[in-house]
Amino acid sequence: MPIYEYRSKDRTGEKACEHCRNRFEVFQKMSSESLTECPKCGAPVEKLISNFSFGMGFDVKAKDSGLHKLVRKDKGVYEKEY
Ligand SMILES: [Zn+2]
Repeated sequence: MPIYEYRSKDRTGEKACEHCRNRFEVFQKMSSESLTECPKCGAPVEKLISNFSFGMGFDVKAKDSGLHKLVRKDKGVYEKEY
């Protein structure tokens, strides 16, 4: 079963709990719907796209589809790579 990573949409972390303030991982079937809320506190969360799930072609696919790749520079600090 694939692992999906989620993180609170609240970048400040004020509304997020310990669980979703940083990334958390959820085992989900490919067919199951994405989480929209933290299972612990109910804060809105977003799915993170990991290189792991997409494999080596991720960067190309992401650029083609207009996504931005966020590179984790430090704890809680993300920088756009493109
Ligand atoms: Zn939470």
